[in-house]
Amino acid sequence: MTNRKSWAAYYRRFGCLDCHKRKQPHGRHGLCDRCAALVMQRVKAIVGQMAAARA
Ligand SMILES: [Zn+2]
Repeated sequence: MTNRKSWAAYYRRFGCLDCHKRKQPHGRHGLCDRCAALVMQRVKAIVGQMAAARA
């Protein structure tokens, strides 16, 4: 239950995994556009921190 289709079906039924709203278009992985962007931002920050820690 991790492919794109099933996440889209999940979103239609339950809304966003994070904010539980359905007003925003589906972003990815069961998250709305806004939450998906926020998650990507957090992931990028973590990746940046990991890279800095290795340096
Ligand atoms: Zn959301």
